[in-house]
Amino acid sequence: MDFEDTPELADFRARVRSWLDANAVRRTDQLFMSMEGEEAFREAKAWYKAKADAGFACLSWPSEYGGAGLTSLHDVVWAQEVENYRTRDGYFVIGIGNCGPAIQHFSTEDVKRELLPRMASAEDVWCQLFSEPSAGSDVAGLRTRAERDGDNWKINGQKIWTSGAQYSDYGVVLTRTDPDVSKYRGLTLFMIDMRQPGVEVRPIKQMDGGQHFNEVYFQDAIIPDSYRLGEVGGGWTGALTVLMSERLAISGIQPTGFPQFLDLVRSLELNGEPIADDPIVRERLATWYSQYAGLQAANKRMITAVAKGGVAGAEASLGKLVGAVMNQEIANFCCQLFGPAGIVSDENLSPERGHFQHAVLFSPGVRLAGGTDEVMRNIIAEQVLGLPQEPRADKGMAFKDIPTGPS
Ligand SMILES: Cc1cc2nc3c(=O)[nH]c(=O)nc-3n(C[C@H](O)[C@H](O)[C@H](O)COP(=O)(O)OP(=O)(O)OC[C@H]3O[C@@H](n4cnc5c(N)ncnc54)[C@H](O)[C@@H]3O)c2cc1C
Repeated sequence: MDFEDTPELADFRARVRSWLDANAVRRTDQLFMSMEGEEAFREAKAWYKAKADAGFACLSWPSEYGGAGLTSLHDVVWAQEVENYRTRDGYFVIGIGNCGPAIQHFSTEDVKRELLPRMASAEDVWCQLFSEPSAGSDVAGLRTRAERDGDNWKINGQKIWTSGAQYSDYGVVLTRTDPDVSKYRGLTLFMIDMRQPGVEVRPIKQMDGGQHFNEVYFQDAIIPDSYRLGEVGGGWTGALTVLMSERLAISGIQPTGFPQFLDLVRSLELNGEPIADDPIVRERLATWYSQYAGLQAANKRMITAVAKGGVAGAEASLGKLVGAVMNQEIANFCCQLFGPAGIVSDENLSPERGHFQHAVLFSPGVRLAGGTDEVMRNIIAEQVLGLPQEPRADKGMAFKDIPTGPS
């Protein structure tokens, strides 16, 4: 494939650049941007609304759902350009990147027209309620129940690690509706109003000081049947759509830390010498550059598939796996380079405004979110390389018969 922009895409790229220059901060001018607190959230909503008003939100969504009616290649151009800026888009990635595609696929026309435009303009924020205390990698083992109640469903149970639930107006929730069939067949996917009685959100404090994710408790929370996504018992298909969209969304924005490392190597001196002259730094630079270049090549392969009308496949897991590991390694290496200053995480005192110190504390979570390293390796082994499936002891067993502990 020819990776040069078509004249139309080149024109679009120029418009994106000039809008970002006028409305966002360059990454090189501001290394760190806080995502914590009400004020940061309000600023993020205002930024996203301006982006939507300028016609740059949800580029490939149909216009009747609040999108710009463009193509996936426009999404790619936006992602390539926005990488050079600091924005607070993170609050909206789960809704727009993960939940939106499943809603477009599985919801009714009325509900799509009601909810998607408000998601696309960031008026409503969404979260993804899949993981539970005993169902993370094996999310199909979840226990939150949904029971019929006339035209509604009644939800009881607990979710955990729900990013952004404290800000969310709605969520996409995966529930168990039938424990008598195998674990994958007894699941149903819904949208849920997070502001109703019976939904309790408890933030979890992280080691980096932030409160990014939450526990969420449901006690007789109500969902109208019109908010069901797909068939009763067909929730696993919907969940896979959400998870594949998530991996794609993450692989596009997966922080690798490499551009920041390159900026640092260009500017930092150690004992009066540029660190770029240090042989260990040069060896690390070469290693991470080759990984970064490899990721970009894999990304281009996905773009080629999308440009030819296909979908990005399990290869998105490769970007997630390699990028997340590199991100953590770079953060750890840079903090060692800083010597004693490497342990001071202070925006005003630390080198590079504490970016790498913050990354040391947050990057382990990135290796878990959206599927752990081991789960990514399983997906690559089975779905990309075609290796045999790992043994699954509960295959074909009714969910209620799966042992949960020593008897
Ligand atoms: C920052 C962050 C944000 C998150 N946001 C959300 C969110 O918004 N919504 C949501 O629903 N969830 C969210 N999660 C949860 C995330 O999806 C889970 O943490 C992840 O799927 C792993 O599940 P677990 O934590 O239960 O670990 P477990 O599944 O218990 O895994 C424990 C260990 O066992 C390994 N393991 C498990 N199964 C296998 C296997 N088959 N083969 C080899 N090794 C295996 C894992 O790799 C891991 O090392 C978030 C997590 C993080 C860290």
